[in-house]
Amino acid sequence: MPVSECKEEVFRLLARVKMPGQYVGAEWNMARKDPARAGLRVCLAFPDTYAVGMSYMGLHILYDILNRRREVYAERAFAPWVDMQELMRETGTPLCSLETFTPLREFDVVGFSLQYEMDYTNVLDMLELGGIPLRASERGPEHPLVVAGGNCAGNPEPLAEFLDLVILGEGEERINDLADACLEMKGARPGSREAAWGFLARRVANAYAPGLYEARYGDGGRVESVRARAGTGAPERVEPAVVADFERAPVPERPLVPFVETVHDRISVEILRGCTRGCRFCHAGMTRRPVRHRSIERILEICERQYAATGWSEISLASLSSSDYPDLAGLVRAVDGRFSPRGVSINLPSLRVDSQLSDIPKMISGVRKSGLTIAPEAATDRLRRVINKDILESDLYAGVEAAFAQGWNHVKLYFMVGLPTETDEDVRAIVDVAERVSDLRRRGGQGPAASAACGESAGASFSAEFPGGGLCAGGPSAGDGASGGARAGLPI
Ligand code: SF4
Repeated sequence: MPVSECKEEVFRLLARVKMPGQYVGAEWNMARKDPARAGLRVCLAFPDTYAVGMSYMGLHILYDILNRRREVYAERAFAPWVDMQELMRETGTPLCSLETFTPLREFDVVGFSLQYEMDYTNVLDMLELGGIPLRASERGPEHPLVVAGGNCAGNPEPLAEFLDLVILGEGEERINDLADACLEMKGARPGSREAAWGFLARRVANAYAPGLYEARYGDGGRVESVRARAGTGAPERVEPAVVADFERAPVPERPLVPFVETVHDRISVEILRGCTRGCRFCHAGMTRRPVRHRSIERILEICERQYAATGWSEISLASLSSSDYPDLAGLVRAVDGRFSPRGVSINLPSLRVDSQLSDIPKMISGVRKSGLTIAPEAATDRLRRVINKDILESDLYAGVEAAFAQGWNHVKLYFMVGLPTETDEDVRAIVDVAERVSDLRRRGGQGPAASAACGESAGASFSAEFPGGGLCAGGPSAGDGASGGARAGLPI
């Protein structure tokens, strides 16, 4: 299908799919450039639906950094829902970007954010729908460079044969270097695919080109070694990128505002990066070190700019563990004091359960109390000790009681199932804890109001229905949850 007809074809399919608004682009603050004048065209591809991908902060950061450059045009593509995929296959409509309805195969670079292992098959799906050969070895000079980054890229091996390049670590630190190298490569025309991998691996720090390495597997499928192939010049060891100046690290000043409902539809400001608590199951806690935080002044500045550019009425002070912000009370007071008079509420995701929890609700006077999200992760003391989540249930109940007393009407609790050594008793205890939390509100003369969201530690989500409560659509933590992974929510 010629590129000029793609938009028309996508629009023809809209009447036959659910949530057509996710396929039309043109959102508030979308980057608009002349693609013909761009030296480098990048498609930021998120291997999940629009609702999940648009809630991922990293996508907005990379989109903003790239589009600040005149010679680069960054666009977006998301995994279409199954109804749309079927129609696209039936009609031969390729997966296109939302900005210019360009098929993925026409870009110079297609960059995937790998946040959850369960998205891996969506990467292949998107490549196929976008008209790009699945394996890197099957691609020629006419095909885009397929790059991946994000949390799951820390272990590139499962997707190694499908990727040309992987950026390890914090992508915003390296994305401009990658764009520079791609622009240079376009002018120099390195010839073969392998020559391009070598050029980029040498030119861009923290870049790993799987095709230049050989992985050896032992019994049981464990990786025994990964070595650079002789004569390729690829570095033996590739370190992850770390943002050196987190205070001034770029954040989008004009985030995209979706037309349709997304998982997180709000201003999201990362206040803290990294965590040293060392919970045994937590990938991010290990790989996002060292701990860095932004000053209150800088956070206020970001909030002001994003509020002015979007008009959102909720601000999320996001991090892996917001309770560990060095002056959380001062920060919440400052943001609440500035924005509460404008009718903007504050959301604190991923709160740790500790003695400070009961003080947090009092800090926020906002007109609309957003939900309080707390992550006990396991419901018995024994299992929490196993996973090194050292919290007291008394702190949890005191914190929740304080929240209900201050007018909160909903508390979300995150748990994991499938943890090593787990017994039926540990799983049943999730219900007990959630019910007890719900009872705390009943005792105050209000209705029940707690939902327990469960994610399986191996990555798969599950859901179940509780008597007297409908099934609640939970969602992936999408960027500011502690442990990621899909979760299903249960109203208790
Ligand atoms: S689960 Fe939360 S508190 Fe534990 S290491 Fe991870 S981010 Fe830190």
